[in-house]
Amino acid sequence: MTTYFNYPSPALQEELSKIANAIVAPGKGILAADESTATIGKRFADIGIDNTDENRRLYRQLLFTSDKVVAENISGVILFHETLYQKADDGTPFVELLKQRGIIPGIKVDKGVVPLFGSEDEGTTQGLDDLAQRCAQYKKDGCHFAKWRCVLKIKRNTPSYQAILENANVLARYASICQANRIVPIVEPEVLPDGDHDLDRAQKVTETVLAAVYKALNDHHVFLEGTLLKPNMVTAGQSCTTKYTPNDIAAATVTALNRTVPAAVAGITFLSGGQSEEEASVNLDAINKYKGKKPWPLTFSYGRALQASVLRAWGGKPENVNAAQNELIKRAKANSLACQAKYVTGSVKNIASADSNYVKNHSY
Ligand code: 13P
Repeated sequence: MTTYFNYPSPALQEELSKIANAIVAPGKGILAADESTATIGKRFADIGIDNTDENRRLYRQLLFTSDKVVAENISGVILFHETLYQKADDGTPFVELLKQRGIIPGIKVDKGVVPLFGSEDEGTTQGLDDLAQRCAQYKKDGCHFAKWRCVLKIKRNTPSYQAILENANVLARYASICQANRIVPIVEPEVLPDGDHDLDRAQKVTETVLAAVYKALNDHHVFLEGTLLKPNMVTAGQSCTTKYTPNDIAAATVTALNRTVPAAVAGITFLSGGQSEEEASVNLDAINKYKGKKPWPLTFSYGRALQASVLRAWGGKPENVNAAQNELIKRAKANSLACQAKYVTGSVKNIASADSNYVKNHSY
């Protein structure tokens, strides 16, 4: 076996670490606002709004013109390609609005999940072909980090070896291409919550998937200090009849991460995965309160669990913009407390904070 490698230059290492560390600074996390056109359409349908370019622009404008206090709790926002090039009513590009707030713009670069031939309804994520050019352009246009989501499913025979290996490898190729273009990769191997499996099974699958991901990242010479991991929390399947406490979820999650994620990784930014806003805050808080080794910052990169109440409060009406922005500010604050182990259950109430955000076989 040949073993040639070279490390990134000290300047590149420094640039990547600096971005990654800023994203996971104490009390801060990410707003995932990178829903594809089809996915935001589903969210709009729930509140009776048409999925037009203008409505998508108005909604993202609402998010990015929130009061500057939001930046005390949100360090980065993940954008969809279309949103990156949209502007506010007064002509200010959205990227500028984020920069003015001291929020780091990021970009979703994957092109979605496609089936794996011969598998039991498993998939891989596409988008590598022109990724280097797109990353170079996104960096010029102000994005300093990226996201690529892979999906693994727990069923009787899955995730298969084929899916585990393929998704680990595509995440590693993506991460190396991002780093070559001075972009911090968020590595997201999401184990979906669909199914009736118990907590132990979810933990073991998460461990197996993460172990494969870090083997692949090492094989591809990815500089871990300049990466973030975006995993699922370890929770039982949606239709599991056994109920687990936040402390059980925290124990399973922290144990799985300790067994598989190198301490060199800059930070862990959980997805919310269909949990209600309140559950996502309570579980993140329990993870941070859990007594055990935790060598990385453990924070949030939530989509649904930061936007459910915002969408509900807005309802597409201009007169509701302020109220909707307040929902975002409140929930961001709750999660900021949670990532510092300071959230008190039930202490922050939003209009949809108790509602489940579960979507079957969720795509993004
Ligand atoms: P949820 O928090 O809605 O699970 O989504 C976060 C995300 O960015 C998934 O890729």
